[in-house]
Amino acid sequence: MNSVMALHEILHETKRNKEVGVVLKLDFEKAYDKINWNFLFDCLHLWIFCDTWIKIVVTGGTVCVKLNNIEGPYFVSHKGVRQGDPLSPILFNFVADCLARMVKMAQHNGLLCGLAENLIPKGVAILQYADDTIICLKNDVEKARNMKLLLYLHEVMSGLKINFGKSEVILVNGDNDTQILYADLFNCQAGLFPIKYLGVPVGPGRLHIKDWVPLQEKNLKKLSTWKGSSLSMAGRLTLINSSLSSTFIYHMSMYFLPKTTTEILDKQRRTFFRQGNGSKKKYRLIQWKVICKSKHKGGLGIKDIRKMNISLLSKWWWKLETEDGLWQSIVKAKYMQGNNLITTIKHKADDSPIWSDLLKIRQFYLKGRSVTTKNGQSILFWEDPWLHQKPLCILHPVLYDICQDKNISVHTFILKQAQLSLSRWLPPILFDSWVSLIDEIYVYPFANSADEISWKGRKNGKFSTKSVYDMLTSGETGLSFKSIWKAKIPHRIKLFLWLLENQVVLTKYNLLKRNWQGDPSCYFCTSNENIDHLFFLCPVAKVIWGTVALCLGANNIPENIFQYKIWITHWLPLGHPVYTFCLGAVCWAIWKKRNEVCFENKSLKHPTDIILYACALMTYWAGLYGSDMQGKILDGVKILISCVHKVMAQQRSSSPRLLLDGPSQPQASAEDASDEDN
Ligand SMILES: [Zn+2]
Repeated sequence: MNSVMALHEILHETKRNKEVGVVLKLDFEKAYDKINWNFLFDCLHLWIFCDTWIKIVVTGGTVCVKLNNIEGPYFVSHKGVRQGDPLSPILFNFVADCLARMVKMAQHNGLLCGLAENLIPKGVAILQYADDTIICLKNDVEKARNMKLLLYLHEVMSGLKINFGKSEVILVNGDNDTQILYADLFNCQAGLFPIKYLGVPVGPGRLHIKDWVPLQEKNLKKLSTWKGSSLSMAGRLTLINSSLSSTFIYHMSMYFLPKTTTEILDKQRRTFFRQGNGSKKKYRLIQWKVICKSKHKGGLGIKDIRKMNISLLSKWWWKLETEDGLWQSIVKAKYMQGNNLITTIKHKADDSPIWSDLLKIRQFYLKGRSVTTKNGQSILFWEDPWLHQKPLCILHPVLYDICQDKNISVHTFILKQAQLSLSRWLPPILFDSWVSLIDEIYVYPFANSADEISWKGRKNGKFSTKSVYDMLTSGETGLSFKSIWKAKIPHRIKLFLWLLENQVVLTKYNLLKRNWQGDPSCYFCTSNENIDHLFFLCPVAKVIWGTVALCLGANNIPENIFQYKIWITHWLPLGHPVYTFCLGAVCWAIWKKRNEVCFENKSLKHPTDIILYACALMTYWAGLYGSDMQGKILDGVKILISCVHKVMAQQRSSSPRLLLDGPSQPQASAEDASDEDN
């Protein structure tokens, strides 16, 4: 990634300086298959590697050709490294690195000229990662010929043949004729920016919205292969959270995606989450922005693309301050000119697009970063809180106001020996506080090493994108359904309970609210069906909770989910680990049976059927617990079953009439709901 960023800065710098730059994007023909073994082992020797076992891995083994499912005779190969072998990329790098060394040597001897010479001594002529190679040259035909010769020599030595048909020449600031001249010289095609380097579009200017269309298409394609419509809500959620987002992560680690693109990508995810790939529109149960909240703030933890983008880009500031590399050297020379204070860098009109995007998100990075003062080079004297918890500009506002060196670093302050220029004479009282401040500074334990940058959000002090993301979402508010997410129940039951807590399980009441037209009455009785009714107040639910109450020795039953929590805590004070477990089993059993009546035209013979189903669920889910807890749950289930029998016996003796009749007619449009709750 570092080299993608570096390439962008190099191209932009060339464009900004109105120089003509020649960029050659090389494609190696069947890169892995053609490596010359002798050359590979020579390279390894140069790196002082012992190649005994590598030789066995590379040269040992035989190959055969499989044609029409028939394997031909095995034969021994004489060149190349194997595709798919984890060792191959490293071995390939040794060979490719040799080209980079040859180019650098030629640069050193003045035979080649790279780009961005004003930033990096002799300029950058080659960027290479695995078999992705970019050559950057100044507009100089004579030197370009040298380059061609070098490529040819490398080919002869290593066996790596450049596929000139697939390689491209692109010019920065060049005209058509010059481009054709170079394309002819290298015998390859003339191309256009942005070019693809390491899978990412790169060019000297800002990428347009159309450059992101392939990413959107890829995203859509990925969604369509997932058979979204046949997946449950839980499955779709898992896929969105894992693989789906990871397709963007790579791009978002380098570019601040345009808002339009983010919105399109988000819409794709939203549609996939709501309706899978089915074209049929599903009911919107809950706002997308609620779903995108983190789990401990009431959402489902789908990552917000924009915030994710900011978090990923913040890493570049960390890299700039704590690591060395080509990109860092370029950026320091281009935008910082020996100044280590990242806080004072101002945005300029001719900044590169990536750099100006990084400046936009700098504030978020600075919130999480802390600096321990050593030599004071990267600390603002007035505005950073280095001496005390608060910065000096706040502790000494009048001094700050009259001081004319507002942007100096602590290091400069020491170099100037506290001789700052002030806009007027200090009155005695201010003079005293100035002197005492200087005294305080002189006893500060400075050190002759770079200031130590660390990250506040983490114990080890190392940057993490997650902590930036957490910081960006820390303002979210919402109820935490921690008990649901922590419960040992299947994921889809957790989601069901989450919907239940949010009052959006698609009962008839909720369907009516979403403009559904149909009979609002309950499938088990004549009252209207809503969440509290179906799960707690319906005669069927009352029998169920009554049986549970009998099992717990309780003399009342809960009337809604909120009461359930108080009720269970009261009657089962030591059963904390199974509160959500029981609620999930009972409510899910009710919901399943209700749907059987609704969609499968089945009838409910007796409410105890539902309890027995809940018992079966609990027995099954008990496997998610450790053996100790598992035993307790199974004992509890046994007691519950015996209570069921008691209730049934009681009913048989008192009233032989069973509670319910069969279902009313099935509701066609209600079946849209089925997807959300399976
Ligand atoms: Zn009812």
